[in-house]
Amino acid sequence: MKHISVIGSGTMGNGIAHVFAQNNYCVSLIDINQTALDNAMNIIAKNLDRMVVKEKIMEADKTATLSNITTYTNLVEGVKSADLVIEAATENKELKFKIFREVDAHAPAHCILASNTSSISITELAAQTSRPDKVIGMHFMNPVPIMKLVEIINGYTTSAEVTNTIEELSKKIGKISAMSNDYPGFIANRILMPMINEAIWTLHEGVGEVTNIDTVMKLGMAHPMGPLQLADFIGLDVCLAILHVLHDGFGNPKYAPCPLLVNMVNAGKKGVKSGEGFYSWNHGTKDLVVSNSFK
Ligand code: NAD
Repeated sequence: MKHISVIGSGTMGNGIAHVFAQNNYCVSLIDINQTALDNAMNIIAKNLDRMVVKEKIMEADKTATLSNITTYTNLVEGVKSADLVIEAATENKELKFKIFREVDAHAPAHCILASNTSSISITELAAQTSRPDKVIGMHFMNPVPIMKLVEIINGYTTSAEVTNTIEELSKKIGKISAMSNDYPGFIANRILMPMINEAIWTLHEGVGEVTNIDTVMKLGMAHPMGPLQLADFIGLDVCLAILHVLHDGFGNPKYAPCPLLVNMVNAGKKGVKSGEGFYSWNHGTKDLVVSNSFK
């Protein structure tokens, strides 16, 4: 395995490209527009600069890493010599179906197709292709160069050989993998999202205020950040979408999103990305939003 193509150069795609390039893989980074690719290369360069300053890598490693990445706006060109394609495009089922069909038509026959999706069924993505045994989930965590975990998701049709190859590869890029079968939310979001949802119910029902809820989970359970702050980081719209996937997928009312979460998303309060969620992020720092505004 030498040539890795990454589709989507946003938050996750540029991190995935960075990690593979730093580990000497030849990376093709693909996006629909050149501006997104230029932004991604700037972000990767800045992240590498930080590592040089911290003396984690040498200046020469930075240069080598950047030279291992080639950018493409043409998907067909970008995947034609790939051994592994990792799709990290926008979380939209129809878009990912289209990408998987196109990649299947143009990537070499031996190429493994992986998705970094947080919530879309790997088995359904595999069914779009003529190689369902070679389709797998590689769910990296944000920020990819820092977070050790990769959750490997075995679709219903993924072969054991492909799973072993991806497990070995994850080790080679310095990640620790955890295996999950392909059911809604996999392992990570199946556990995380109900916890975040329950924290929002706790706020909604007036049991505790934002800082009380986050402080209990931080200091009492040794979580590095509280669930409401984490929800702001992930994006409240993303949390809501994943809860819908869990609710629809299992048909169990325990996954029903708290109405406060629904109201906040409808009101445009999506967390860090919109400047306000459970906290205000307008000044680049975390200020508490007064609690009587949660109605
Ligand atoms: P993002 O919005 O930052 O980036 C998505 C990129 O995909 C954009 O640059 C967009 O231009 C590009 N894109 C859209 N259509 C494309 C196409 N047809 N071909 C090529 N590129 C295309 O999104 P993100 O946060 O990086 O998320 C990407 C994937 O990773 C999603 O499936 C998401 O669920 C998953 N994920 C995200 C996180 C996270 O914390 N952000 C964590 C784990 C998994």
